[in-house]
Amino acid sequence: MTEAVLVVGSANADLVVAAERRPAGGETVLGGDTQILPGGKGANTAVAAARLGADVALIGAVGDDAHGRLLLDSLRGSGVGTDRVRIVDRPTGAAYITVTPDGENSILVSPGANHALAPADVAEPAGARVLVASLEVPLDVVEHAIAETSREGVRTVLNLSPTAKLSDETLQALDVLVVNEHEAAWLLGTDSSDGQDNGGTGAGADNAADGARLLDLGPDAVVITRGPDGATVLTRGGAGGVDEVMVPSPQVTAVDTTGAGDAFTGALVTWLASGATVSDAARRAVDVAAVSVTKHGAQPSYPLLDELS
Ligand code: ATP
Repeated sequence: MTEAVLVVGSANADLVVAAERRPAGGETVLGGDTQILPGGKGANTAVAAARLGADVALIGAVGDDAHGRLLLDSLRGSGVGTDRVRIVDRPTGAAYITVTPDGENSILVSPGANHALAPADVAEPAGARVLVASLEVPLDVVEHAIAETSREGVRTVLNLSPTAKLSDETLQALDVLVVNEHEAAWLLGTDSSDGQDNGGTGAGADNAADGARLLDLGPDAVVITRGPDGATVLTRGGAGGVDEVMVPSPQVTAVDTTGAGDAFTGALVTWLASGATVSDAARRAVDVAAVSVTKHGAQPSYPLLDELS
């Protein structure tokens, strides 16, 4: 079977511990019980899409260990194709997450098996409609996947998370670049941090000039996610202008925003694969991401299609 959506990205075990505070250098702090949850941006995106009914496969790598089996079970249980998830001789990727009472997360990622992924793993996109990638796997793999698939007429989507310096060729081959406000600010050079969501006030693209600069990098469309405010879709307008569509989010009471960006991207590619415009796909994606923030965890919080109103 050929999948409509191919996801290139990471699969990590999320090892989550609640603690009163995070340890300083040289210090030991006792926390609560460890929760082990399936995660990683690639696996999350694939699960989000599959739960919405997309025909989806993950291209990734896990180790021959308990975390790898947890991830494969979760992917298969959601209907994600795993034939192209390679089992390699390295430990499954892990994210060590400390959660403090103020709601802040601090996360240390050990990429492990994700870094065993190689350009040869992303060959043969035949039949896929959309390829979506994120960057917890090696940059050369992602760039190779985008180059190969855009040549085949597959729509290419990149979630620039975590940030990485992309080649001009890659940026120009992209149909849709998805960034949060911090990543947008990093791309624009207006954020001195590493573009990660550290709870700061990364402003993102705030005006038409910023939007034009993002599109000038090369993608046909840029989607900026804006947390509770929803998303902005930027495309080229007539006479070199920028068309900016604001897509507001439904107002919800958020209990856990972990993996909201991956829920958004998974939904976006699901509707892109069924032929929707980027703006229409983003309208569905904010609904899906809003549901995801009302429940705990990443993958367990993603809705089925019939759970959407
Ligand atoms: P994360 O790192 O938490 O996965 P992100 O930083 O990549 O997310 P955000 O812009 O924070 O990206 O969130 C992605 C999408 O999730 C938003 O565009 C929005 O649709 C939805 N979302 C996030 N937070 C909320 C919220 N509090 N209420 C409703 N929707 C939200």
